[in-house]
Amino acid sequence: MYNISNIRNDFPILSRQVYGKPLVYLDNGATTQKPRQVVEVMTDEYYSVNANVHRGVHFLSQQATELHEGSRETVRQFIHAHSTNEIVFTRGTTESINLLASSFCESQMQAGDEVIISTMEHHSNIVPWQLMAARRGIAIKVIPMDDRGELLFDEYCKLFTPRTRLVSVAHVSNVLGTVNPVERMIAFAHSQGVPVLVDGAQSIPHMPVDVQALDADFYVFSGHKVYGPTGVGVLYGKEEWLDRLPPYQGGGEMIQTVTFEKTTFNELPFKFEAGTPDYIGTTGLARALDYVTALGMEQIAAYEHELTTYATEQLKQIPGMRIFGEAEQKGSVISFLVGNIHHFDMGTLLDRLGIAVRTGHHCAQPLMQRLGIEGTVRASFGLYNTKEEIDALVAGILRVSRMF
Ligand code: PMP
Repeated sequence: MYNISNIRNDFPILSRQVYGKPLVYLDNGATTQKPRQVVEVMTDEYYSVNANVHRGVHFLSQQATELHEGSRETVRQFIHAHSTNEIVFTRGTTESINLLASSFCESQMQAGDEVIISTMEHHSNIVPWQLMAARRGIAIKVIPMDDRGELLFDEYCKLFTPRTRLVSVAHVSNVLGTVNPVERMIAFAHSQGVPVLVDGAQSIPHMPVDVQALDADFYVFSGHKVYGPTGVGVLYGKEEWLDRLPPYQGGGEMIQTVTFEKTTFNELPFKFEAGTPDYIGTTGLARALDYVTALGMEQIAAYEHELTTYATEQLKQIPGMRIFGEAEQKGSVISFLVGNIHHFDMGTLLDRLGIAVRTGHHCAQPLMQRLGIEGTVRASFGLYNTKEEIDALVAGILRVSRMF
């Protein structure tokens, strides 16, 4: 049952004050708050189980390993992967993309081969490819978008050439909120024999995701954006792909045998998990996924949709309001500017009223260039936000506007 006051009670931070005002936390696109269930399960594991995983014969190590591998199974179920061999634990979306860029380019791309990304990518889905462009001579092509913030599908199709090796695209834009038609994009890429990486950082917390239904070859996300801990994330890859890719980092855990002459690598998914994993973090992530599953991803999506629609209607009534991103399919993110008020001034003054929003380029400078602006104010909603908080945001903006 979606009982908002019970839900909010699970998140102690939501009842704190800042500058003597009740906190209105609208920066969920950057990171989400944690329910006590997540923090408690991690504390319990530190207090009563902690031991390094996979390598121990002793009781605690086996128990920690069972928890860690159980978390992998929770992630598998959550995104409906075929096998736990396809779930690689990483530090987050950024590391997942860097891992893939490195391993994929090294084994599947030659100088002159091409990767397709989009105008609305986060820097973490741009810069790793630029590093590969500098090191290995690959080329980057960019899908354009219209003024509403929707990718141009026909232009996307025209970017494919015999040298296209990979498409890497955000499921949901962290600035515009656009939900990209990744299923259709994947189907087209596959018709050209090209695999697709989906950056799910902004979709995983907000909608049900089924990697098999999407037919995504790779799907990545961060734990901290889905009510889990920082420092842990996921790279999903189809087994047939991960099998073909070389390791990213070397060290313990990822090997089968080592001599000074030669090393053979461990099986999936351990081949990609060098060193001690964040096994307490994976427990926290699994608990966070259980938490949102119990609420129901469909219910969360419907509730957040209602909030976003309400917020959009209210914000549009503010004189001088400009909203960036008006795609037909839009997630719970609203980027805006009001009159000539600088985004930084707006963010700072809202903060004094207890309202936490993000300002700036949102790690998407090329998108800002496309929009012809330096930055925006961004309000992004989570499963615990309320209409009263949106009213507080609107009242706050009006108050700031009157000051200018
Ligand atoms: N991609 C998108 C679309 C994002 O919104 C973010 C985080 N703002 C990232 C990637 C990077 O995530 P992380 O910093 O957790 O690695």
